[in-house]
Amino acid sequence: MASSRNILIIGGGTAGWLCAAYLAKALNLIDNPHLAITLLESPDIGIIGVGEGTFPTIRQTLRFLEIDERRFIRESSATFKQGILFTDWLHEPQPGKRHRFFHPFEAPFYSEETTLVPYWLLQEPNRRRSFAEAVTIQDRVAGAKRGPKRLGEPDFDGPLDYAYHIDAHNLAHLLAERARELGVIHLLGELDHSDIGSDGAIEAVALKDGSKLVADLYVDCSGFRAELIGRALNSPWRSVRDRLFADRAAALKVPYENPDAPIESYTLANAHEGGWTWDIGLAGARGIGCVYSSDHIGDERALEILRDYIGPDFDGNSVRLLSFDAGYRERQWVRNCVSVGLSAGFLEPLEATGLVLIEAAVGMIAELFPHQGPVDAPARRFNQLMTARFENIVKFLKLHYCLSRRPEPFWRENSDPSTIPEELRELLAQWRYRPPGRFDFILDVESFAFFNYQYILYGMEFQTDLSAGRSDFPKVAAAEKLFDRIRLFGEKAAHDLPSHRELVRELTAL
Ligand SMILES: Cc1cc2nc3c(=O)[nH]c(=O)nc-3n(C[C@H](O)[C@H](O)[C@H](O)COP(=O)(O)OP(=O)(O)OC[C@H]3O[C@@H](n4cnc5c(N)ncnc54)[C@H](O)[C@@H]3O)c2cc1C
Repeated sequence: MASSRNILIIGGGTAGWLCAAYLAKALNLIDNPHLAITLLESPDIGIIGVGEGTFPTIRQTLRFLEIDERRFIRESSATFKQGILFTDWLHEPQPGKRHRFFHPFEAPFYSEETTLVPYWLLQEPNRRRSFAEAVTIQDRVAGAKRGPKRLGEPDFDGPLDYAYHIDAHNLAHLLAERARELGVIHLLGELDHSDIGSDGAIEAVALKDGSKLVADLYVDCSGFRAELIGRALNSPWRSVRDRLFADRAAALKVPYENPDAPIESYTLANAHEGGWTWDIGLAGARGIGCVYSSDHIGDERALEILRDYIGPDFDGNSVRLLSFDAGYRERQWVRNCVSVGLSAGFLEPLEATGLVLIEAAVGMIAELFPHQGPVDAPARRFNQLMTARFENIVKFLKLHYCLSRRPEPFWRENSDPSTIPEELRELLAQWRYRPPGRFDFILDVESFAFFNYQYILYGMEFQTDLSAGRSDFPKVAAAEKLFDRIRLFGEKAAHDLPSHRELVRELTAL
């Protein structure tokens, strides 16, 4: 006979509600009399929500949850995201001259006969187009403020790879609605403390009102407070601040000048002396923030940077200051408690890896879910895989910083080899003579593929010297033809695809 299982999720931010909805769907909660999923959320403690970027994986997750794309876009104030435009990361801005590069979601164009990357590398550096412009049409489409798909194309599908910018508060509401439809029980209340048994497992959680809740599996989605995994179970935090220096963010929302103002379909990431700013176009307002290292600049300076960036619309009173210690827990699953979201780890906002890590964790919990038997083996596996995922992201984020030639101390220290992970240093040494390839990475524990590395490396003018092997790449004429076709397709797509603002407006019209 099947035994009953109880899952208790603490926290109602995007981590908690995504976890609730996903597990409810994956474990068939609505038709399963032996399973209960309850989510406890404090009505008084707010959630983080600054205007977040997502990964293309979110489309698969939403499809799995059977949330249609229009509903998602309407209710999450979402817009499309086709990548990130980096400005001033390589050099300080000079009068009339700023360095920019685009990191699109779309992989470089690839055909059976020709891989374009070596041919681009062998072109004359001063005469070739930028890497992203040369190998994909997405740079041109996003640059022309066009959306990645046409109206009428199937949900979550289109000619170009894409994700979204979202309002995390609204997304949490939507996921909550979906989780409740799928049978999740929603409780309002504040956890006060947890009872830990002699075996180190959680026996019960006590609420401020004096009641207690008991479960077989506890999921800690309580954000930076980490009520269970941190406060109750003391699972150590592994800080990565020796490699990723940012530890503060100042964030605010800024309304558009007028309701028809164009919306960018990429995140703007502008480097400054002690970090960088993000600018995310949501449906109703822009989410803007300044990320910085408190060892290098103070809060006052960060606010000044924001004020300069935003101009007259800057409203100092609406700024939220957030502190974090870049890092993660090596043991995110301890006995009968697994942590997901900010309680498990947070590196920094660069490349928007918060939600994708939640998606990865939730997918793994659903697969490894201990229907019966001991929990320690799946927990060990989960911890190994999540540790690898976090470490790989550290490597990728560090790549953005360590290639900079900016002169300020923040940037100089970032390119000091002692702050660069050894594995990344080794890869960089190899990539001097060949471009990143798929065998450099084990995809099951990666959030970024080899082509993501290519976009950052070549956007930052990293030199891969193939000249000694020029004769290994004889299909120059075919490659040139492909580059031309990409350019022409890009022009055509930038003309044919709808404007981003128009696409969002049409998709959200009832
Ligand atoms: C500056 C910044 C920028 C970011 N940018 C991005 C981005 O661009 N892309 C991205 O993917 N991610 C980003 N993130 C991360 C992203 O915001 C989070 O990963 C995501 O929102 C999940 O948060 P969470 O649900 O873990 O925590 P929270 O949103 O903090 O939610 C915590 C929940 O726990 C509840 N809670 C806490 N204590 C108790 C208690 N004692 N009893 C009951 N309930 C309790 C709270 O009420 C709340 O519901 C960013 C984060 C920061 C700080």
